[in-house]
Amino acid sequence: MKITNVQVQTVEVPLLEPFRISLGVITHARSAIVSLETDEGLVGYGEGAPGLLVTGENLPGTVAGIELMKPDLIGLDPTDLEAVYWAMNRSQAHAPSGKTAVDMACYDLLGQKAGLPVYKLLGGLSNSIETDITVSINRPEVMAKKAKAWVEKGFDTVKIKVGTGRSEDLARMKVIREAVGPDVKIRVDANQAWSAKAAIRMIECLNEYDLELVEQPVPYYDIEGLEYVTKHTNVPIMSDESCFTATDALRLVERRAVDILNIKLMKCGGIREALKINTVCETAGIQCMLGCMIEETNVGITAAASLGAALKNITRADLDATFSLSDMPFVGGMRVEGANRLVLSEEPGFGFVGLNGSKGKK
Ligand code: MG
Repeated sequence: MKITNVQVQTVEVPLLEPFRISLGVITHARSAIVSLETDEGLVGYGEGAPGLLVTGENLPGTVAGIELMKPDLIGLDPTDLEAVYWAMNRSQAHAPSGKTAVDMACYDLLGQKAGLPVYKLLGGLSNSIETDITVSINRPEVMAKKAKAWVEKGFDTVKIKVGTGRSEDLARMKVIREAVGPDVKIRVDANQAWSAKAAIRMIECLNEYDLELVEQPVPYYDIEGLEYVTKHTNVPIMSDESCFTATDALRLVERRAVDILNIKLMKCGGIREALKINTVCETAGIQCMLGCMIEETNVGITAAASLGAALKNITRADLDATFSLSDMPFVGGMRVEGANRLVLSEEPGFGFVGLNGSKGKK
């Protein structure tokens, strides 16, 4: 099988409401959908959703990066994942979102060619995974009301965005815990808002309301600080922005700077690199979470859920981006069962059908 064409379309879907974290505000999911066409008539789909506040990439850059790779991809066998990986890396450094889109589309084609859903190719532990739901920054009572509504729908884990100030963060945790009751797991994500010592003080106070874990307490570059926090609290600490690639993961794991590590396809450049990260972590006895960008649609979430469901060491999922979308831009892929279970298609590949009507624009 040979790649005969690489098409890129952009989708823009308004979020149901603005999504606020300590780094900024996001109002739309904007992403690049790649279609890899082949000489066998099979088409593979992938998504590059640049997380501007996390990766620093934007959509025009992601589209341009994919266009740049196009001449190197045409003629390759998309099931030769190594050949595709090295062709992409020869074309440009970093640029994980665009590479993820192509990598995802190749896995889609590999599954189609093999006649198997991708989750089976990646390990096949399960065909589904439960996700948490994220409550973005707002007034404490608004956050408590939202958290309660999600729990009433059936979510058993909520992820609370914090990092706007000590009194506000404590106020929001207090009312959220009161609203959701004692049995719901609460994880908090500070998105780099604290210094290491401030983090220790905050985590001690917030843990009065029983934290499952704390995500990215300190700036992404402060690995010493992350290690300090991890070693000075009993609450599990998870990295997000501090780990993009498997090399980052190895550094964090070597110094035991984290207890858990959040993998996102859009940070690492695709499933191939994500598998490496998980292998590093699993070898060291560190569990992973599979996360997403708020900018992702059901294409990226399907790929991430396939990986998360397939592997035992991925014990948590924060794959809730589609719950924020005002519209689903793609047909096929994963479906939501009950409140929080993402169930994968049994069709070969990811089970994508194509863009939904007029949502795509060239
Ligand atoms: Mg995060």
